[in-house]
Amino acid sequence: MINISKEELVYYKKFGVSEDSLKKLEEALCDKELKKVFDELEKIKRFNELKVLDAFNEVSFNQDDFYSKSGYSFDDIGREKLEKLYALIFKTEDAVVRPSIISGTHAISLCLNGTLRTKDNFIYATGIPYDTIRRTIGSEKVIKNKYKLSEGSLFDQGVSVKYVPMIKEKIDIKNVLKNINKKTKLIAFQRAIGYASRESLTTKNLSQAIKEIKKKYPNIIIFVDNCYGEFVDFKEPTEIGADIIAGSLIKNLGAGIANGGGYIAGKKELVEIISNKLSAVGLGKEQGPMQSQTLNILRGLFFSPEVVLSALKNATLFNYVYEKLGYKVYPLFNQKRGDIVSQIFLENEKNLIKFCEKIQESSLIDNKFMPVPDVMPGYSNKIIMASGSFIQGSSIELSADAPLRDPYCVYFQGGLNFSQGKLALLKTLDALNNS
Ligand SMILES: *Cc1c(COP(=O)(O)O)cnc(C)c1O
Repeated sequence: MINISKEELVYYKKFGVSEDSLKKLEEALCDKELKKVFDELEKIKRFNELKVLDAFNEVSFNQDDFYSKSGYSFDDIGREKLEKLYALIFKTEDAVVRPSIISGTHAISLCLNGTLRTKDNFIYATGIPYDTIRRTIGSEKVIKNKYKLSEGSLFDQGVSVKYVPMIKEKIDIKNVLKNINKKTKLIAFQRAIGYASRESLTTKNLSQAIKEIKKKYPNIIIFVDNCYGEFVDFKEPTEIGADIIAGSLIKNLGAGIANGGGYIAGKKELVEIISNKLSAVGLGKEQGPMQSQTLNILRGLFFSPEVVLSALKNATLFNYVYEKLGYKVYPLFNQKRGDIVSQIFLENEKNLIKFCEKIQESSLIDNKFMPVPDVMPGYSNKIIMASGSFIQGSSIELSADAPLRDPYCVYFQGGLNFSQGKLALLKTLDALNNS
């Protein structure tokens, strides 16, 4: 073996990995095409590392910036510098980066609730969004009938939505333009696939769509759910025309180091009205304790390009090997990616559960736990989730999840380094081989 050293083999033996699976890994690592993909991903990483270094250099932090204020937390210089740093990286006028933004869902909900008002209409140009966002929008009858009181969804507030599904993995721009009317205030795009079965939205496709909308309707707000998309490419959505974006710090930008939080970046005026929802009208970004998390969030951002590269290599390797074994995968290993997620269609429930068990076993924390399919708030099917991470629910760390339904597609993502990804791959291969 050329790509797996004698020294590594000692450990693989200790982990009980079979010769057969090791051979499959070795073959993959020898493939010139796969290596070419890895080289391109390295190039993106190096560029994003410089982007981060440049922003740090510009903002210039001091040790004192890490001490959080208490109470209202007015004039927290570290917080203000952190937000300036994010704005520089995303090339936006402003940003809000807080531990009090709980998750990606919270950040996205803030963006929609902050910008949309009664009688406004908005369009989701990437079809029905990620499961947890559907309650925020609240247009689904089933969900609505369960509650007697208004639960405060956008639908309850008189905001209407149109979903325009993608066709052949591309934005159906003609149909998006056709659905725009006088009341259309915002058009939303979701970069990652969520629990849909499609390819992620590439920067190129997103850029074309935004350009065409802006040409005719320069005042419509372009919002992008950037979850899982950060540092996957050379440019972020705000560099190609998006007005406002949102994401989670327990995904790409937190790098498994930030304890939690979320960010919103974009036009100053938009960040301001959205921040009014986060705190209160008139308070905006001026208040909000950092709970001593400034340092962790900064460190996460610094390591993010490297960790995103590991996640991308892991996802690419999984899809390469599983496709060779005859499973359907999205995207193909050499296809341009818009997120870090790997979709593998495992054909039946047994394979799906075995795969997730092995991901759990390869985790750093809770590795002796067994993932069991169960109902989850915000999701309509039973879900199996394998995640044993430093940070609860962190999916930039090695994780896999899937709704228990045909076509038994598992969504695999993360892994803080390539070795963990390779080991997890070997374990899943052995498990599926013996079923
Ligand atoms: C993860 C994710 C979200 C938000 O999820 P949280 O678990 O609330 O952070 C939203 N949209 C997409 C596409 C996602 O992948």
